[in-house]
Amino acid sequence: MNIVFLGAPGAGKGTQAQRLMNDKGIPQISTGDMFRRAIREQTPTGMKAKEYMDRGDLVPDEVVIAMVKERLAEADCQNGYILDGFPRTVKQAEELDKIAQIDVALNIAVPDEVIISRLGGRRVCAKCGGTYHISMLKDNACPACGGELYQRDDDKPETVKNRLNVYAEKTAPLIDYYAGKGVLVTADCTGTVDENYKAVLTALKMD
Ligand code: AMP
Repeated sequence: MNIVFLGAPGAGKGTQAQRLMNDKGIPQISTGDMFRRAIREQTPTGMKAKEYMDRGDLVPDEVVIAMVKERLAEADCQNGYILDGFPRTVKQAEELDKIAQIDVALNIAVPDEVIISRLGGRRVCAKCGGTYHISMLKDNACPACGGELYQRDDDKPETVKNRLNVYAEKTAPLIDYYAGKGVLVTADCTGTVDENYKAVLTALKMD
């Protein structure tokens, strides 16, 4: 099953996609994670992406599309995948349609005020990439692997505002795009991580 996760930054796409991957064995393809790794490894793609990410802007379509095409051709993607953070523009969605059939697009629906609180409190593990909210943490160590937790540069307040504007302008139209194709489902993800995961499974008819 080829699944697209839609939702504003901080809606919980990454958390729910990781959970679904661990539970059902479907690989999670996170373009944000791929860019962060590329930046750490100082690859040409990473160098191109960094300035856009630092501002909270989208990386140009052609850079993202080339990276995703390469990734989806790999062996582990041949029986389905969860796209987390891609597509983010109508152009990306149209290019994706040329190389893949999307079975379902899941809209992770969360009101703006919840998003802002989640992004401000989000911490990421430098070692395993797990994401947590500070309200769930005892200290600065990853509960899963003990790695050091950090705040993403683009989760700082000035960048968050721009990311939410970019989402509204460029990415939210994808809700209508996938609704028009008859593959859109919605999960209300305002609850706890466990409650939200149940809503995700119900929406995907996987429970
Ligand atoms: P994320 O981890 O999904 O929030 O992505 C972090 C940042 O990576 C975004 O704010 C963008 O700058 C960039 N990025 C990730 N995915 C895409 C995409 N599909 N298109 C353009 N930029 C992206």
